[in-house]
Amino acid sequence: MKLTFFCLAILLTTLLPAQDIYLHCGKLIDTEQGKVLSNKTIVVSGKTVQRIENGFVNPSTSEDKVIDLRSKTVMPGLIDMHVHLENETNPNRYLQKFTLNDADVALNAAYFAKKTLMAGFTTVRDLGGSGVNVALGKAIAEGKVPGPRIFTAEKAIGTTGGHADPTNGRKKELMGDPGPMEGVINGEDDARKAVRQRYKNGADWIKITATGGVLSVAKSGQNPQFTQEEVNEIVKTAREYGMKVAAHAHGVEGMQRAIRAGVTTIEHGSLMDKKTAALMKEYGTYLVPTISAGKFVAIKAKEEGYYPAIIVPKALEIGSKIQNMYAMAYKEGVKIAFGTDAGVFPHGENGKEFGFMVEAGMPAMETIQSATIVNAEVLDMKGKLGILRGGYLADIIAVNDDPTQNIDTMEEVVFVMKEGKVYKHN
Ligand SMILES: [Zn+2]
Repeated sequence: MKLTFFCLAILLTTLLPAQDIYLHCGKLIDTEQGKVLSNKTIVVSGKTVQRIENGFVNPSTSEDKVIDLRSKTVMPGLIDMHVHLENETNPNRYLQKFTLNDADVALNAAYFAKKTLMAGFTTVRDLGGSGVNVALGKAIAEGKVPGPRIFTAEKAIGTTGGHADPTNGRKKELMGDPGPMEGVINGEDDARKAVRQRYKNGADWIKITATGGVLSVAKSGQNPQFTQEEVNEIVKTAREYGMKVAAHAHGVEGMQRAIRAGVTTIEHGSLMDKKTAALMKEYGTYLVPTISAGKFVAIKAKEEGYYPAIIVPKALEIGSKIQNMYAMAYKEGVKIAFGTDAGVFPHGENGKEFGFMVEAGMPAMETIQSATIVNAEVLDMKGKLGILRGGYLADIIAVNDDPTQNIDTMEEVVFVMKEGKVYKHN
């Protein structure tokens, strides 16, 4: 008898649905159709959207909960394709490499992850840190730490003295000779080893620094830094291990080598010309614009002592070019995957990018589609993320205004749900 009761109890808890959440949405963005819909109810069951109904529907049982977003505009959780959760800009950043332990980095990263989630970004691609980003991604996925879902590149791959060489600018005794283990390669054998090591370390993506960069302590911000053979080998090996490649690139030669090798995304693309834009279209390569980062470094470079002297001219020259390049690339028909480079500017300000994209000529609706449906496709999360529809993960956010009328509203996210759990409700 006791046993029967026990079995019945188990049966009931498995059969009875958990508490459902009914979200009453005044406006709802249909990212697939590119339309703003009115008066809808999203029914969330567990981690997923169960269905969307017309009008404001109330639950039939008192177990279920209603959330009133009738004065808000609701949309899928945003996706940022380019963040660095392990660190954030500050004038002591270069010194911190010598003062912070991994534990400090981890706690900082958890703090930045929460800020990112609260800004409405429920998914990010972390394009390079020390490996703490892998641990953080796991802790978030296991629900131990609040933050966005993370697709991580672990440590970026570069060449000796290149943008991702971690010992740039040090005195010789501290330079050493980092190799593929640390993500520094010279030649095709190294290239394979570095990719395989990232795979072993838990990376989801491979990030390469195809050209010089602005914030590394090195002279050129735009020279090509891999041979064509090296990039080819990286992309080929990454594919064999089920990973896609993101290429940081400012100058055209390095950009073109990366595109020809078959990378999925070009990050920044600052000095891109029409010929390179045409090549991107031919290969179906996405541009991740990071206009926010460009604007931020160009402003901070004018502040005495904020960056080391060798960085200042690069930041002034390259930073200011990104927005115009982006306008050109968009006009030429290059596919745009929303991404900011948060960490280069303060985390949580990712939403500013929408305004910069609109300013450069992209309609507001397309900027939101870029940060949702397009990015879901790039991350191979089609059918799970980027659209609000039955069966998709319940990553849902809300803003005060209709962003197609007022894009700045994207900077003030008032409601955040990730996988059916509410993290913010102002
Ligand atoms: Zn970056």
